[in-house]
Amino acid sequence: MSVIVRWAPSPTGRIHLGNARPALLNWFFARRHAGKYVLRMDDTDLARSTRAFADGIEEDLHWLGVTPDLLVRQSERTALYDAARDSLIADGRLYPCYETEDELDRKRARARLLGKPPIYDRAALSLTEDDKARLEAKGRRPHWRFRLDGRPVQFVDVIKGAQTVNTASMSDPVLIRADGSYLYTLPSVVDDIDLGITHVIRGEDHVSNTGTQIEIFEALGGAVPAFGHHNLLTDAAGQGFSKRLGSQSIADFRAEGYEPLAIAIVATLTGTSLSVEPYDSLDAIAERLDFSMISHGSARFDPAELNALNARLLHAMPYADAAPRLSAMGLEGEAMWMLLRENLTRFDDIAEWAKLVTGPVEPVVSPEDEDFLKLAKALLPPEPWDQDTWGQWTDALKGATGRKGKALFLPLRLALTGRHDGPELKSLLVLLGRKACLDRLP
Ligand code: GLU
Repeated sequence: MSVIVRWAPSPTGRIHLGNARPALLNWFFARRHAGKYVLRMDDTDLARSTRAFADGIEEDLHWLGVTPDLLVRQSERTALYDAARDSLIADGRLYPCYETEDELDRKRARARLLGKPPIYDRAALSLTEDDKARLEAKGRRPHWRFRLDGRPVQFVDVIKGAQTVNTASMSDPVLIRADGSYLYTLPSVVDDIDLGITHVIRGEDHVSNTGTQIEIFEALGGAVPAFGHHNLLTDAAGQGFSKRLGSQSIADFRAEGYEPLAIAIVATLTGTSLSVEPYDSLDAIAERLDFSMISHGSARFDPAELNALNARLLHAMPYADAAPRLSAMGLEGEAMWMLLRENLTRFDDIAEWAKLVTGPVEPVVSPEDEDFLKLAKALLPPEPWDQDTWGQWTDALKGATGRKGKALFLPLRLALTGRHDGPELKSLLVLLGRKACLDRLP
């Protein structure tokens, strides 16, 4: 059986780190098993879903490095859901209910008063055809509930192990609203059957839905896929990420200049037994990450860890990977990249650092170092220069002035670069060449 997975975002906002987790965990699983990846837009909520959000999600997913094999939109698949609806109605599994929200609230309140769980009492199942006709004549439109078996539904979760969801303790779920629109539950099952989904990998907030949905798979005669529910990522404060609360989106991280791989690693390896550390590619993570490594506890995002990881990825980035991005910024040169990359926290910082090589640089010369720097200028060795030139030059200066350590090196750094920190001077000197150095020394 070849693996087919799906990631099913609702396009009601841009995706955040918490959404990137299932998006990528599904991708890793598909890659590991040479399977297929379906991007399914859960856009049945017409009031809140927009095409712009859907397009944005596609863009974010590509930026992260995921290329789906197939894109489907639930809004274009209503005929399939209608057919499933009709078959469930014919089998007596889907039944019309006419209670208003107020009536349901009152029922729940009454149940609570009696110390009973606030589960729907299935009163609608005893309505006669006459009752229904009378309600409809009064203008009531039915919503439709799925009649649960009410039993312990068992499944072996590929992440969490054996699970039981007792549907006897749940209300029969509403699958169709009074306006005829579908809630997420039924279309999801219909699509999973139609698209031959073999594994449903999603957040653990869906475990109880899985109990309901397994019953629906069975009622529709579809093959029940394997399920895996991963721990949820929380923000630094321990709160769930939310599209509506404006949690940092993937698009925000992108705009701030983070590497997609850094975001992918943090989104997936936080809360697993693998460390959050550099990997060469998504495939390299896919090879290592096994579902047994996903912890059962929560996974808390740490912005400091993301920053450190982003920097580490840049510090190790081969020139071949950097070159196209450098050239888009009008920069080039392997030696320059290899020298400066260790100073980067974001890729675009390279533009600023490159000025140390290309100029202009405003040399910093303090009055007490002026004579020393003039001597340094006079002692600058003739070209050709190599990695030994810096040592020869500073040895000569040390011999002539008795300066050493910071007193010897800092004035040279300040004059040549205009700053206190930065790349190794030994290599910078070679990149600059004698002429540029003469220009920067007083
Ligand atoms: N649209 C649902 C969500 O975003 C999909 C859940 C699922 O993977 O079945 O929560």
